[in-house]
Amino acid sequence: KHLSYKPISTEESSRYPAVLTRAQSELMNYNGLGISVLEMSHRTPDFTHIITSAESLLRELLNIPENYRVLFMQGGGTGQFGAVPLNLMGLKEDRCADYIVTGTWSKKAAKEAEKYGKVNVIHPEADQYTGIPDSSSWPLNPSASYVYYCCNETVHGIEFNFIPDTNGVILVTDMSSNFLSRPVDVSKFGLIFAGAQKNVGSAGVTIVIVREDLLGKAYKECPTILNYAVQAKNNSLENTPPTYSIYIVKLVLEWLKNNGGTDTMNQLNNQKSSMIYDVINSSNGFYLCPVDEACRSRMNIPFRIGNLEGDTVLEQQFLEGASKLGMISLKGHRSVGGIRVSLYNAVTVEETQALAAYMKEFLNKHQ
Ligand code: PMP
Repeated sequence: KHLSYKPISTEESSRYPAVLTRAQSELMNYNGLGISVLEMSHRTPDFTHIITSAESLLRELLNIPENYRVLFMQGGGTGQFGAVPLNLMGLKEDRCADYIVTGTWSKKAAKEAEKYGKVNVIHPEADQYTGIPDSSSWPLNPSASYVYYCCNETVHGIEFNFIPDTNGVILVTDMSSNFLSRPVDVSKFGLIFAGAQKNVGSAGVTIVIVREDLLGKAYKECPTILNYAVQAKNNSLENTPPTYSIYIVKLVLEWLKNNGGTDTMNQLNNQKSSMIYDVINSSNGFYLCPVDEACRSRMNIPFRIGNLEGDTVLEQQFLEGASKLGMISLKGHRSVGGIRVSLYNAVTVEETQALAAYMKEFLNKHQ
């Protein structure tokens, strides 16, 4: 196996993102050990070094206070939809929680939580998600164990650019699709979780940042691998963790640190998303984004072409033309259709410029 391996040449490697070339160069022989991270036991000093480096890089990049634990878990964002209530619903006697539902992912989280306690859905009447209801109108329950929201709704393109005030109730957020896209004041939260696969690495690992004093109150039925206190006590090694995914997280965090950290990402993400929103806003209704301007996501930009329901012929032509230029994954989520531009940290300003130019060209041709 080792003999048939052909690394990409230096010339070729300049076409690949830094993290992938680094992973490739270390794939067969990590750190001179003669084995791959893929082959390594999670109990070895080398893997311990990988996971502790990933944690300390994350602590540095997000300025995570000492009284918070960082956990590397499995089960994705969906796993956390169950883990959050199983661990935190019992924080108060009433076993209830407030869920601010602003799109697909917070709706799913609320539905899962209903299995484990009383869920108060804020503004349950919404059937189309185009904004965040005015926070002064939220009927929050002071005896809730926590208030939950999704910081960036990946499907609907709705992002919170403020941290909700809960009057002292523990705040929990799903940052799966905007984690590390900007600085965040971790101390305002009881818990933040994020699946790695958008901004931090590859699928398989989910990062949980949890305030230490919230640990140890899980329901006794909580599965061991979803129990934050158990994972914290065992440094996320209660069972075999997704070792290679954690290694990739470490590489992405190193890349992030070497490229200006969350301040720079914030600046770039604002710049990139403005380029696309500018084209939409100046298209005289040819491109239509249904989301309120105040909470338009910098990560995911959904829009329709032609009219609010979408001219499916034009949209298909748009996707085909983009694909010919090497721009892929622009199709909107299957539940809403249309187009969706995702501008995660790994997308460059130049790539975004190319897309904006293509959108203008398409507009001129078809308007
Ligand atoms: N939350 C958000 C914001 C998401 O975007 C997703 C997936 N795209 C999930 C949760 C679910 O994550 P997973 O597929 O890892 O379970």
